[in-house]
Amino acid sequence: MTIDVGILGATGMVGQQFIALLADHPWFRVTWLGASERSAGKAYRAAAAWRLPNPLPEDIARMSVDAATPGRAPALVFSGLDSSVAGEIEGAFAHAGHIVVTNSRNYRMEADVPLLIPEVNADHLDLLRTQASARGWNGRIVTNPNCSVIVYAMALAPLRQFGLKTSIITTLQAISGAGYPGVASWDILGNVIPFIGGGEEEKIETETNKILGALKNGAIRNHPVTVSAAVNRVPVHNGHTASISVALDEQPDADAIVAAWNSFRGKPQELGLPSAPPQPIVYLTEANRPQPALDANRDGGMTVTVGRLRRCPVLDYKFVALGHNTIRGAAGAAILNAELMHRQGLL
Ligand code: NAP
Repeated sequence: MTIDVGILGATGMVGQQFIALLADHPWFRVTWLGASERSAGKAYRAAAAWRLPNPLPEDIARMSVDAATPGRAPALVFSGLDSSVAGEIEGAFAHAGHIVVTNSRNYRMEADVPLLIPEVNADHLDLLRTQASARGWNGRIVTNPNCSVIVYAMALAPLRQFGLKTSIITTLQAISGAGYPGVASWDILGNVIPFIGGGEEEKIETETNKILGALKNGAIRNHPVTVSAAVNRVPVHNGHTASISVALDEQPDADAIVAAWNSFRGKPQELGLPSAPPQPIVYLTEANRPQPALDANRDGGMTVTVGRLRRCPVLDYKFVALGHNTIRGAAGAAILNAELMHRQGLL
């Protein structure tokens, strides 16, 4: 059986990635595209500046873009809307009975909204039991983390067993993370910008605790790890990298940490979800890896690659983590969320 899906923000960077990833999806078929009034009424080909190396599917190119108002969209809607409008529009879709699986930040930290990484906290979907009745809507909203948080939260998740206490994270984030046209070429070429707007550092410092937290009596109890983040925009197309130091209560040897990463599996692997990478975290032993140009696309961009694990003279260990920001960090993450929801009878 094929499930019809819509895409809110279909013309943007994340929207395009949704289209590319759903082109041959075994369960989901794109039947509706929504964007701003600037795009509404135009054929997708004319409305969107297609930026991906994958060819734009011909049926999508010809599809007319709709306004981002509920009514004509199918029940399941993915969202890559600009966060300045996502709160209101996604709320309106949920009120109208749609299941909104979104990338935008607006609902991520709400107590009754899952902030989901299926390998890490699949049980947080339980929040949906009360969301609709508490909010008086028929639909649902499920979010995925910020594009950089998803990479670091996955790398940190297997370290919870060692008593994860503190983490200092310095990021090197790709320009595709700023959407299109994003950062002006004059500003980013041959340069590093030590600032990303929209509260990027605060997102890393707060979303991580909710994601790694435990579901108790129908609510999330945040993980106690203290995170300090410093973010940088770098002239890389795709792939957010970070240097991470951690303090742990226990003192595992390096082999135990590497084994925890390499053996880490979750619900997507157990259920064989179509977008699940076989090994969600891969540790590379080469001294100069991971690198965005070589490693961001591992397993279709759904794998987090780590490397360079070594002792940290300030905390306990330090390492490097990398993930594809518009795939594992955005569209691929949302599709994996919807696949899990489907298998759990929540669509
Ligand atoms: P983008 O390229 O700027 O795309 C924004 C989309 O929102 C476009 O489709 C745009 O449609 C639509 N939009 C803007 N104003 C609208 C309005 N008033 N009504 C309806 N639609 C409107 O941004 P992006 O990089 O794809 O990011 C989309 C969302 O995902 C953001 O919330 C972002 O924070 C989040 N996110 C991005 C990444 C990433 O790596 N890029 C990763 C994770 C999460 P028009 O083309 O018609 O203007």
